[in-house]
Amino acid sequence: MEDCIFCKIVKGEIPSAKVYEDDEILVFKDIEPLTKIHLLLIPKEHFKTVAELDGKRAALLGRALQKIGALAPAWGLEKGYRLVINQGEEAGQSVPHLHIHILGGEPLRWEK
Ligand code: 5GP
Ligand code: ZN
Repeated sequence: MEDCIFCKIVKGEIPSAKVYEDDEILVFKDIEPLTKIHLLLIPKEHFKTVAELDGKRAALLGRALQKIGALAPAWGLEKGYRLVINQGEEAGQSVPHLHIHILGGEPLRWEK
C-alpha cells in the first residue's frame, strides 16, 4: 500500500524505534505513547482488520501473540500489559494496517 504509514515503516522509508523484527512482524515504539510503555506490533504484510484474516494470516497472528508473550518481560512488561486492536472507524482505527497496541509499564485502569 503506497500511502500506508506502517508499510513505509516496514520499508524503512519512515524511521521508527524498533524493539523487535523478524521476517513477518515488526514491533516498534508508538510515536504518541498513551502509557509509559506503548509498543505497536504489525505484520509486514498490509491488511486492515481481522475481517481479512485467512488461515495464513491467522497463523501469523498466533505466532505474533506467542512472540509478545515471550518478549514482554524483556520490554519491561513483566508486571502485565494490555493488548488492543482497534478495528475500523468507531473504534478509532487511524492507520489502516492491522496493529496490536501493547500497553503497560504502569497500572492501567479499565472503566465502563
Ligand atoms: P490506531 O489509532 O489506528 O489504533 O493506532 C495508530 C497508532 O499509530 C497511534 O497510537 C499513533 O500514535 C501511532 N502512529 C501513527 N503514526 C506513527 C508513526 O509515524 N510512527 C509511530 N511510531 N507511530 C505512529
Ligand atoms: Zn500498510
